[in-house]
Amino acid sequence: MQARTTAVFLWTILSATPQLAAAAAPTPLLAAAPTPPAPTVLATADAGPPMLTGLRPFTGPENTRIVFEFSRPVAFVAPDSDRAPALAITVAGEAIARAPSVPTLMRIRDGVIDSVEAVTGVDGARLKIWFHDSTAFRVVGLPAEGDQPFRVMVDARRSGAAQATERRLATIAQSKRRDRVRVIAVDAGHGGDDTGARGPRTVRVLEKDVTLAVAKALVDEINRIPGLRGELTRDGDYFVPLHERYHLAEKMKADLFVSIHANSSKRRGSGSGTEVYFLSLRGASDQADADLANAENAADLVGGVPPQSEDGLVSILYDVKRTSALEQSQLLAETVLDHVAADRRLESRGVKQAAFVVLKSVEFPSILVETAFINNPVEAKLLKSRDFQQQIAKQIAEGLRHYFSRSGVELRGAESQAIERSGQ
Ligand SMILES: [Zn+2]
Repeated sequence: MQARTTAVFLWTILSATPQLAAAAAPTPLLAAAPTPPAPTVLATADAGPPMLTGLRPFTGPENTRIVFEFSRPVAFVAPDSDRAPALAITVAGEAIARAPSVPTLMRIRDGVIDSVEAVTGVDGARLKIWFHDSTAFRVVGLPAEGDQPFRVMVDARRSGAAQATERRLATIAQSKRRDRVRVIAVDAGHGGDDTGARGPRTVRVLEKDVTLAVAKALVDEINRIPGLRGELTRDGDYFVPLHERYHLAEKMKADLFVSIHANSSKRRGSGSGTEVYFLSLRGASDQADADLANAENAADLVGGVPPQSEDGLVSILYDVKRTSALEQSQLLAETVLDHVAADRRLESRGVKQAAFVVLKSVEFPSILVETAFINNPVEAKLLKSRDFQQQIAKQIAEGLRHYFSRSGVELRGAESQAIERSGQ
């Protein structure tokens, strides 16, 4: 009887939770089962115990993040932060169900975390993480936000990694001076638990994967252009806070910052085309742009970064830098959009302004490219295709090259190539 109740409960949760229903879709048994009427499902799901619906690891250069996802908030006990060889998180006093997709034991073995165990039952849950070594960690409970459910997030620090990052960025800055090249920081939007926008039901694709693929292709294209060097702000599937993205670019002494994203319209499938943004200090061009900036800025909420107060830095020098950066950002946005719009598969929606956190540095011109609409089935297919990713990367890179010539900067390699040609 107990087992049957649980089975019915699992099925109703699977039907009620879109993400789980999608994950279960390839299983013929579940796909063939009749769908219960929606109101009954919701009532049953509310009545049942909370469920552990996800266990996901994300390995980044400086830390490994483990995300435990629950169907409803649970009261858990764990240290906020510490350094130890292992960590136990307990949920006591209530039964915890578990989605079939969540393993009891997950081996990570990425040099930071050895393995994760998740035991659930009628008396609660015991989540245990064994670190590779004695490791500094922090534990955060994140309330449900948008389409993200309640999560318990563990960040475990890779020892010595922060110093390694600093060294890597300093090396980029040094080689830039030595080789007299212009460095372009290419920022792949979202990552890790922050998936960004999603494709429609017919095209399974996530914004975080598209942005990384386009960003990598863009770095390759930039590196083909003499005098330019492309560097990524993230090169894998992990979360980077928004302010950290431009701080990385500042430390590598970048000359330009280009953030890659995919758009999503709330009105289903109605959006299409490319738009390029630069920072607005006064708010957005219109309500839709303000909504978009809010959606992109919400990445930090998803990733568990506490809201930051605005930098209180006010000086004449700062104002001059900011004005110059904004003027150059507008020129950069216009030039890049011209080149992307050359691809007739995408309509140009124009250059726009909104208060994107990631564009806030005053050290270099910054733009955010909303490549295409990922919730539009036609454009989602484009965004998913290798061919299109390379094509749009090539056009953005051409736009970057043209930007330097429009702003009167002669690129070093281009100049020596010209001399070689004239000498022949
Ligand atoms: Zn985005």
